[in-house]
Amino acid sequence: MTTAQLISAHRIIVKIGSALIADGETGDIRGSWLETMIEDVVRFFSRGQQVIIVTSGAVAVGSHHFNKFGVLRSEERQAAAAIGQVRLMLAFEQSLKRFGFGLGQILLMGEDLRNPHRRLNVLSTVRQILKVGAVPVINENDTTATAETRFGDNDRLAAQLAELVQADIIILLSNIDGLFTEDPHDNPSARLITEVRRITPQIEAMAGHSVSRHSSGGMLTKLMAARIAMDAGCNMIIAKGNKSYPLSAIENGGPSTWFVPFARDRSDRHTCGNKLPQAQ
Ligand code: GLU
Repeated sequence: MTTAQLISAHRIIVKIGSALIADGETGDIRGSWLETMIEDVVRFFSRGQQVIIVTSGAVAVGSHHFNKFGVLRSEERQAAAAIGQVRLMLAFEQSLKRFGFGLGQILLMGEDLRNPHRRLNVLSTVRQILKVGAVPVINENDTTATAETRFGDNDRLAAQLAELVQADIIILLSNIDGLFTEDPHDNPSARLITEVRRITPQIEAMAGHSVSRHSSGGMLTKLMAARIAMDAGCNMIIAKGNKSYPLSAIENGGPSTWFVPFARDRSDRHTCGNKLPQAQ
């Protein structure tokens, strides 16, 4: 797997973790970081690639309005998501506008990607947003999703979306360089795995169980996402995204883990039995 594949990929999903977009102490949006990330995204568009953004952070941003420590009650979390989502989208809109791009917000529940009619609606909406030169920016609909209808985390949302839109690569921008042989916080000599071609029990054993306060993901959910992506013939990259220009860093060979699917041919891909509308 080489960065040349990233440069030649047609459709890329970039997923942003809560810890990157929101300052954990203040709940403020990390505006200067976001501007550099958007600059990277715009560069991808300028060479003919399409980018779809999946962003977390609504709860992390909105929860600071509740002025309390510890875990929010379910209705507080939903309200936090409602408040935080608006602030998130305003920040994205402002950053994209500098480059003449608009944005189209899509809030999804698990059912939206399971139900065949809703799947097609999501797909055609994504296509239309891209067609008019705007960037689809997607999050889970945390305000109305219930335990039964939730994706649970945006890693799996991004992977299921990748299957639907036939993305070539998902980039999970996270707070860790990738998959390590052991948790690097516990063991500093843990080694970064740079490429995974099959998710074996040994690979699963390497994934820790750590989850952060506001996001739902951890290395285990990233592996679940990788499995969905690889089954759909889509590559997945995990990389630490906290520095400026995080996508350029990957392109320049920065640390990351690449999950490479067996099937490389688009015709091999699963489309969940849905007939896809004509490509725009
Ligand atoms: N949808 C949640 C949010 O916007 C985050 C879920 C996740 O981190 O995976 O805060």
